[in-house]
Amino acid sequence: MSDVIVIGAGLTGLTLAYRLKRAGMDVTVIERGDRVGGQIASHEERGFLFESGPNTGTVSSPEVAELFADLGGACVMESAGSGAGRRLIWCRGKLRPLPHSLWSGVTTPLFGLSDKLRLIGEPWRRRGDDPDESVADLVKRRMGRSFLDYAVDPFIGGIYAGDPARLVTRYALPKLYRLEQTYDSFIRGGIAKAKEPKSDRDRLATKKIFSVRGGLEKLCLAMAEAIGRDNIILSAHDVEIAPTDNGLWLVSCDKGRLESRYAVTTVGGYELPRILPWISGSEMEAIAGLEYAPVVQVSVGVADCKGRRFDAFGALMPSCEGRRPLGILFPSGCFPGRAPEGGALFSFFIGGVRGRRYFALGDDELKALVREEMRDVLGLDVEPDLIRIWRHEHAIPQYDASTGRRLEAVAAIESANPGLILAGNIRDGIGMSDRIKQGCAIAERIIQETGEDS
Ligand SMILES: Cc1cc2nc3c(=O)[nH]c(=O)nc-3n(C[C@H](O)[C@H](O)[C@H](O)COP(=O)(O)OP(=O)(O)OC[C@H]3O[C@@H](n4cnc5c(N)ncnc54)[C@H](O)[C@@H]3O)c2cc1C
Repeated sequence: MSDVIVIGAGLTGLTLAYRLKRAGMDVTVIERGDRVGGQIASHEERGFLFESGPNTGTVSSPEVAELFADLGGACVMESAGSGAGRRLIWCRGKLRPLPHSLWSGVTTPLFGLSDKLRLIGEPWRRRGDDPDESVADLVKRRMGRSFLDYAVDPFIGGIYAGDPARLVTRYALPKLYRLEQTYDSFIRGGIAKAKEPKSDRDRLATKKIFSVRGGLEKLCLAMAEAIGRDNIILSAHDVEIAPTDNGLWLVSCDKGRLESRYAVTTVGGYELPRILPWISGSEMEAIAGLEYAPVVQVSVGVADCKGRRFDAFGALMPSCEGRRPLGILFPSGCFPGRAPEGGALFSFFIGGVRGRRYFALGDDELKALVREEMRDVLGLDVEPDLIRIWRHEHAIPQYDASTGRRLEAVAAIESANPGLILAGNIRDGIGMSDRIKQGCAIAERIIQETGEDS
């Protein structure tokens, strides 16, 4: 018998289990794969250190900073260097920096003159009243078409591998939605928020971009060690969760059976019908039907860039430009030790909801595509010293117009089944900081509930 059984040893499951373990609870993590980390995996080869899943996170909530502080020397956070402040956008045959000051905002060729002038009136524009307005409609309405095309569209491609016309702002970009709803304007809201008094804890949340010394996977490994390897069951197949007559949860898999007071899933929506087969199709439909963007990540290492430097976070491709990658990250421009001296590491992201056809390409076609994009976009006409291809069929969930129904379905299942918690990226955000925040919040809730009872 465990207090809590967590299904999935990705970042969400590990954060949750780690926090519970630290509070003295008995936790078992059950994972189908033969390793911990889920989408997070780091690799070292031929002098390059690269990621096959996420490359960087943001310290956008106090929980992220607190987790690293808690883990201490077991896992060292690396903050991105100054190069990470430079973000490039492909525009009419050239990479151009995204403006970061008033002057560069005025002079940039990325946005049209009429939209720049229109932006002056943004603080006085009427607040939107459609709670399900798409990101594209919101940005066009408040800022203008060129801001959608050359800032928000590539940003959504880079983060969600998604389509701004289909993502609903209040679910996909809740902070932006709240800014308009609370302050009637992004500009006025931004200024007001900057002036708001902040507690010491609030101040832990920053825009800082992080990785981990030795690769992001070290974060997961450090938590796994603290949870205790004996408490993590790997390579577990046919996992099912069922209610018992005595109000507990029975989790069974090919490795055995275990009872617990809480059972928490952290898997994708498409996995849940198999894990909870006794929940009817109609109750599960909105969760299981969550769309995920497929993404191919291609890690490319060049040992000698012949004096060229790539000191930037990376380059994003607006969909209106018709290029094949969604974006190219420059990890060696942000963190030390990612490539040999004089070389560079690139992460190409290809596919997404608007580029599903590229997900079907074979390795040779992808390699040819990447070499062409290296030449045309990065101006690097060299044979890479390393190319590794990583396919993620269910990379990023799309918080589209079906999200409201999905959240209602999750709430209904949880309230009818006390102790069963459906977590993971089916709700509460898609990024690593969201996953850490959710893991901490659920741990807090369980600790409080069990503390109240005992
Ligand atoms: C290509 C890519 C790039 C990304 N880039 C970024 C980025 O730059 N920054 C950022 O913040 N985020 C990024 N993300 C998102 C980030 O990786 C995720 O938010 C995070 O890693 C998800 O963690 P998780 O634990 O919720 O899910 P997962 O990592 O998917 O973990 C779920 C675990 O459950 C296991 N599992 C599934 N089904 C079962 C089952 N039936 N039984 C038992 N176990 C099961 C899986 O094997 C997996 O280990 C990226 C994601 C991808 C795919």
